[in-house]
Amino acid sequence: MSQLKYCQGPKCHMYDTKDRKRGPKDNKRNETRRRSSFYYLNGNACSMICQDDWFNTYGQRALQHFGMITQPKVLTRDNAWSARRNWNYNAASNTDSSYYVYNHLTEERRPITEQQYDNDNTITDDGRLAI
Ligand SMILES: [Zn+2]
Repeated sequence: MSQLKYCQGPKCHMYDTKDRKRGPKDNKRNETRRRSSFYYLNGNACSMICQDDWFNTYGQRALQHFGMITQPKVLTRDNAWSARRNWNYNAASNTDSSYYVYNHLTEERRPITEQQYDNDNTITDDGRLAI
């Protein structure tokens, strides 16, 4: 069984919904939502509103903590790769060109295997080809 965790939205308890209500009639209170999983804020906020609240409260500090960029990032032929799948692939044609890596700048295509396509290490997080 997965562990329950709290929504990280700093104002989550302030939104008045039935599922946030706790306590007896004479001592009602609203609490932060608690779930086994969330969809927003990379799995840490119960709604887009709570995600926005988190960013409005902590976003500037997070940017300062992890470092603001002071120069532009640059896309070159070396880091312009992405793994793609040809959804028009016809199995009857018996070709193995269903999966390929594509270079956004040079428009070069190179066939890859399904295993390479599924492997997160085929292309690095910053777009470099690692095979
Ligand atoms: Zn929330």
